[in-house]
Amino acid sequence: MSRKSPQDPGAGTAEDALRPLFDAFDNDGNGTLSYGELTDRMRLVGILDDDPRITGLLSSTGDRRTELGFEEFVALVRETSGLLRRVVRDDLAVPDFAALAADVDGLHEELCAERGGAVADYIPQLAEVDPELFAIGVCSVDGQRHLVGDAHEPFCVQSVSKTVNYCLALDENGLWGTHEHVGWEPSGRSFNELALNPQGRPHNPMINAGAIMSASLIRPESSAADRFGHVAETWQRLAAGRRVGFSNSTYLSERDTADRNFALAYSMREQEAFPEGTDLQRTLEFYFQCCSIELDADMLAIVAASFANGGVCPLTGERVFSVDTVQHCLSLMTSCGMYDYSGEFAFSIGLPAKSGVSGALMIVIPQVMGICVWSPRLDEHGNCVRGVEFCRRFAQRYNVHPHDGSEVQSGKRDLGRRKDHTLVESALALCWAAGQGDLNEIRRLVASGADPDAADYDGRTPLHLAAGEGRVDVVKYLLNRGVRVAPRDRWEGTPLSDAQRSGHQETVDVLRAAGHPAEAVTTASSARGRSRASSRTRVATGTRKAAKRPTGTAVAG
Ligand code: GLN
Repeated sequence: MSRKSPQDPGAGTAEDALRPLFDAFDNDGNGTLSYGELTDRMRLVGILDDDPRITGLLSSTGDRRTELGFEEFVALVRETSGLLRRVVRDDLAVPDFAALAADVDGLHEELCAERGGAVADYIPQLAEVDPELFAIGVCSVDGQRHLVGDAHEPFCVQSVSKTVNYCLALDENGLWGTHEHVGWEPSGRSFNELALNPQGRPHNPMINAGAIMSASLIRPESSAADRFGHVAETWQRLAAGRRVGFSNSTYLSERDTADRNFALAYSMREQEAFPEGTDLQRTLEFYFQCCSIELDADMLAIVAASFANGGVCPLTGERVFSVDTVQHCLSLMTSCGMYDYSGEFAFSIGLPAKSGVSGALMIVIPQVMGICVWSPRLDEHGNCVRGVEFCRRFAQRYNVHPHDGSEVQSGKRDLGRRKDHTLVESALALCWAAGQGDLNEIRRLVASGADPDAADYDGRTPLHLAAGEGRVDVVKYLLNRGVRVAPRDRWEGTPLSDAQRSGHQETVDVLRAAGHPAEAVTTASSARGRSRASSRTRVATGTRKAAKRPTGTAVAG
């Protein structure tokens, strides 16, 4: 294979690399693309119109019938090209999303007939909720979403808040600093049982006593307003920036009827389980407020997907919790998330899940997707009846149980492929996105662990690609992430020489300001006479070939 110099701006361009994308979306092959063609294709794989990754693109394309030529397409898709590319390459977490959506719709319809259980009434405000409300939301770790039923009706998270509060307690106090105050064994008792473990600590953070303890560990020195704001903002980040609500009436109603939770708190104080100086009244009020945070099924599915995605929100690429924090939380959700039904749920379904007395149920399929089922009628354990039944039927159709020997289990379907991309694939995807200027895709890849400083088999780094295309924002982002300022590719080219050659003065200035040595320019300019094809073409078309090369030689630090 002949080696091409990356230095010639006159050959293939980053725009050329978008041609296959355009063609793939141009269903009728007429050389133009309508807003409708674009959104229909995206919707088919679960990328909905309100997805923050494409809202900019869609609002600029305007009316459903607006036709885009290739030039207009190129001008519009920069920040979305990585996602579009994964759509056309069929490289999303749930490949057959349409089949999954149809199954979810079918299960919703079947379960509407299920009217067992009763709405929680020990918190008076909850007793007033319409028992017929029923929603299911799913969101994959690539942000493919499907919603059915009352998916935009708000509900209180109640005990589902125990997951987020536990994660916040871990982030602030560390594993041992947290578990000095709370255990990790299932209690085998109901969620508000007056019982502590033999050390006088709550059994785990997924029941009331443990969640009151988590609340006491979150910013205890701050004002009530700051503590609540911190928790609400965390939910918001997990839910792709959507604003969370708060049901003041539920909060007041619970606070006024909270003898059991007060009793739990006093018994923990008697055992000196709380951190020194804990104010019980303030802690309990904070705990009740967290339970009264409102989301809808769409948002809770996105939150569940953020947990499935190791703490990174799939729609924004933002890391909210560390991988370790999420792993700890999912472990406890698996063993303790369904109260005194946790053992049977772990046995038959095997997935981390957390229920709340509002009828909310959050289910996580690690590395694949998150699910929310919301239906207010509860069984005797306090779990949503339709939610538990949904899980049972879902696990009969898909091999989601972690101990399901799928090869021998005939008749069960594979839900998705696990997102365990190799270092080579993520390095090449980063280079591609850098050349296109798709900062969203770059943030997503970096948040999922891709090294922004890794080079392809020609020694080309994302910084080379971004600099050569004059993607100033990307160059600044990469420099802020601490990548090497002047890496050399196999032709001795540096980002600065690439930027200079293509006449991107602003990029040159940014690189110089970041300390790029001037001598590199001279060295790189000697590459001019080499063979004449652009790196932009090479990187775009070379990804598959490169991925096949042996790992050790393809990616350098
Ligand atoms: N706020 C509720 C309580 O403390 C939460 C319980 C639950 O959802 N299981 O009683």
